[in-house]
Amino acid sequence: MKVIVSDLSEQYNEAYHEAQALLDEHNPCQIKIHDCGGATCAARDEPGQVCCIGCDYHSDKGCTVQCLGCKLHLCYNAGHHDELRTKLHRISKNLPYGSLLSIRASKEDTFKRIAGATIASLDR
Ligand code: SF4
Ligand code: SF4
Repeated sequence: MKVIVSDLSEQYNEAYHEAQALLDEHNPCQIKIHDCGGATCAARDEPGQVCCIGCDYHSDKGCTVQCLGCKLHLCYNAGHHDELRTKLHRISKNLPYGSLLSIRASKEDTFKRIAGATIASLDR
């Protein structure tokens, strides 16, 4: 069991870094920080309205966790990048727990969800 958990953890890190590299390459969100300190992006042109606002893991230095769900699930606007969307979808499909990923979730939150789903399936 220990080996499986560490494999899943490593797989999560690899998927996260792969997704981040794709986002860095394609820059679908085009986030801009303005003089007022507020940020705009490809979907929100009003400073302070980007999707991270209001998230418990958001800080003035950006995201404080490794949220794979956020890296793989872009909003409708960023999703217009077909090639990128296909590549991100492939990463998600290759993960055994791809359907359990959600936005605004740390790696720890995600693994708690995976553990909960596993226990629920064993109870059946
Ligand atoms: S996912 Fe959409 S709303 Fe969030 S930063 Fe990117 S473009 Fe903006
Ligand atoms: S967890 Fe997601 S929504 Fe929250 S700050 Fe990080 S990237 Fe943004």
